[in-house]
Amino acid sequence: MDRPAVPPIRITMPQTLINAKQILLIRDAILQRQRFVITSHARPDGDAIGSQLAMAFALRSLGKTVSLVNKDPAPPQFQTFPGVRDIEVSPTVHGQFDAAIVMECGDLSRTGVEGFDKYFVINIDHHPGNTLYGAIDWFDEGAAACAELVFDVIEALGVPLTPEIATHIYVAILTDTGGFHFSHITPRTFEICRRCTEAGAQPQAIARAVYDSSSMARLRLMGAVLHDLEFEADGRVAIANLSLRVLQDTGATHDDSEGLINMPLSVKEIQAVAFCKEIAADNYRVSMRSKGDVDVNRVANLFGGGGHKNAAGCTLTGPYGDVRKRLVEELCRSLTAF
Ligand code: AMP
Ligand code: MN
Repeated sequence: MDRPAVPPIRITMPQTLINAKQILLIRDAILQRQRFVITSHARPDGDAIGSQLAMAFALRSLGKTVSLVNKDPAPPQFQTFPGVRDIEVSPTVHGQFDAAIVMECGDLSRTGVEGFDKYFVINIDHHPGNTLYGAIDWFDEGAAACAELVFDVIEALGVPLTPEIATHIYVAILTDTGGFHFSHITPRTFEICRRCTEAGAQPQAIARAVYDSSSMARLRLMGAVLHDLEFEADGRVAIANLSLRVLQDTGATHDDSEGLINMPLSVKEIQAVAFCKEIAADNYRVSMRSKGDVDVNRVANLFGGGGHKNAAGCTLTGPYGDVRKRLVEELCRSLTAF
């Protein structure tokens, strides 16, 4: 006699339980090993650099040896923070390491560095769609910054917060939340920042270094970008084009354009912004930002990129007119999708 079909039981563990389990796995993996290499994504941001260095200082205080290898240098505003200058910038990683800790990367290729796949990889990240490429994967998309996860690992290791560790975690959270602006900020975010401030992170000095130390060229660039800003969907979508020509005219670099994308979002009506940076002829690195339920990660994914709901990116090729058209079409679809 045929048995009635039994529907499969799918047990999904609550994130808090997953977190507790993965923290302990990572703690034990770290305690059992001696030589580490730590990396984050290409063109690192504040969360990438802060997460990496907070972990590096914590591991060194346990007597571990730590190397840091990234594809690209840290942006200038992060260069003055402790240990940043010790990060080796290289397209490949060599050497004998017992584990590689990969921060902030949804996929191993996001490191931009060849060779990490030969190590025991500990993957710590908060990007939706993380491909779980590690020997240990800890991925919590509910975290406001990867550094929140790093904080938990450091606490589990029993390492006291030093001013260096605290500064890096604070920088990472400050920048990844857009100055406490974006989604996923929880009471825990402030609790971690409180602990970091107590341990010696200086919010005013950090904010000055991160936000108030840019160049005159950046100010000129800001003027040019805002002057050329275009609007779609009754002013709910803004699109900016930063051509190589404008960079040359203003004397600015791509680093100087970091963060400019947030300016249009200060306008009440504007729900989504795309910022197209020309990297080479017909080659655009696109950053997108949005408010609330407008999902720019969906748009980035369509074009082979990624990120988060309110902050994502991708690379597009073709004449600017085409790139603009493809982006606008999808951004408008995201506007109406909720
Ligand atoms: P950005 O606009 O470069 O500041 O990036 C915003 C967010 O999107 C960050 O979380 C990035 O890690 C992510 N992101 C940007 N570009 C890409 C890409 N090509 N592939 C995957 N994620 C990306
Ligand atoms: Mn991040």
